[in-house]
Order: sequence, then C-alpha cells, then structure tokens
Amino acid sequence: MDYRLGKIYKIYTARSPHIYIGSTTQPLPHCLYNMRKDNVRQLLALGGTRIELIQRVACDSKDELNCTLVAVRADYIARGLTVISKLPDATTQLTPIICDCGKTTSKSHIGRHIKSAHHIAYLQTVANTIQYAVVLIYRNTNITPPANLITSVD
Ligand SMILES: [Zn+2]
Repeated sequence: MDYRLGKIYKIYTARSPHIYIGSTTQPLPHCLYNMRKDNVRQLLALGGTRIELIQRVACDSKDELNCTLVAVRADYIARGLTVISKLPDATTQLTPIICDCGKTTSKSHIGRHIKSAHHIAYLQTVANTIQYAVVLIYRNTNITPPANLITSVD
C-alpha cells in the first residue's frame, strides 16, 4: 500500500440521510464497486449512490490515514450528519503508548517497534546493566558465579 495516495471519501445517496466515510489508497470508483461492507451495500441498494473525495491525505502509514479518517468522521458527526461507518480500531489501536525505551508508539505499531534499532539498543543497555549488577553481587559475596557468567564487565 502506498499511503502517500491516501484518500478520505464519502458514499451517499439522496435517498438516505446516512453517509459512509472511509479511507483508501485505491482509485475511488474501484473502491465503490468493491465494497463488501454491509452498511455500504445497503446504500448501494437504494440507488443513486455516489462516491466523492473529501480530501487527499499523503501520509506514511495506515495509522496516519486512520487518524485523519477519525478526525473527518468526528467533524461530520459534529455537523449533525449521520455517519454509518464504524470507527476503525484506530481509536484503541492508535492510543499512544510510551515504551520503556522512551519512544512513543501505538498498539498497532508495537510489533514493529520492538524490532527497531532504537528499542534493541535499549534492551542491550538493560541487559548490560543487569549483567553488571549481577557481577557486582558475586564480587561482593563469597558465592561462586556460574562458569558461563561473563565477568569482564570493567
Ligand atoms: Zn521501545
């Protein structure tokens, strides 16, 4: 998916007060004919259904596109319109999470985040600190360290 091609669109018909607002990276007509969501199919069944671009959103990720989608829907709802599309999981998926490493991520990004160089560097720091602490404990007691404990931490 090329999220630089992100778009927010609406599907509506004069025969219903209900509006569907969605996001896509695909051309819009393609979008209308491939709609499998029940609430959109109900609008299509009424006839006279139109799809219209609300805004283009050149972004880097699905999360970013979803954030805009949530904002646009909220705006339509605030104007008293009946938006039938459900909020994407974005509301929970996008809630910021501050990782122990200090970086801000989100539920939908955490899987990728924990593989990032920044997070791995943080884990290495934690591992080094723990190892150093363990070595100090052995040095300050008469307990014999396990043979596989690396003691060259100085
Ligand atoms: Zn992290």
